[in-house]
Amino acid sequence: MFREFQINRIYQGGLDKGADILEGLFGVMKQHRISAGIISGIGAVTEARLAYYNAETRTYEEKAFPEPLEIVSLKGNISIKDDAVCPHLHAVLSRSAFTAVGGHLLPRTYVFAFEFEIIPFVGEPFVREFDEATGLFLWKK
Ligand code: ZN
Repeated sequence: MFREFQINRIYQGGLDKGADILEGLFGVMKQHRISAGIISGIGAVTEARLAYYNAETRTYEEKAFPEPLEIVSLKGNISIKDDAVCPHLHAVLSRSAFTAVGGHLLPRTYVFAFEFEIIPFVGEPFVREFDEATGLFLWKK
């Protein structure tokens, strides 16, 4: 299952220290009416919140990391859920010992320094709908 999109621009920028990453990126999407596309970013956070989807219990297990972490890789996609723009972000974050944690990025993850790219897609955005087989909101075909 896939669609073809066109690309005609790329946004590159940063978020200020203290910004909530999800909120900040959401602001860019709203400002430029982006409802399909991809996101990438690198930088560092002062604290993070991640989630892991437990397929057995069908619930997101959330965990806070109240420590400075490097954003080794943040990536995500943009689509529509409940008639609204829905950024879906995952991140790999590293500690001073060069070990890493990762997961589904949640609100209340705060920027120390952050540089991002958003590539908006031109075309009909995917729409998320509840998927009985996984318990997740996935792109409908
Ligand atoms: Zn996720």
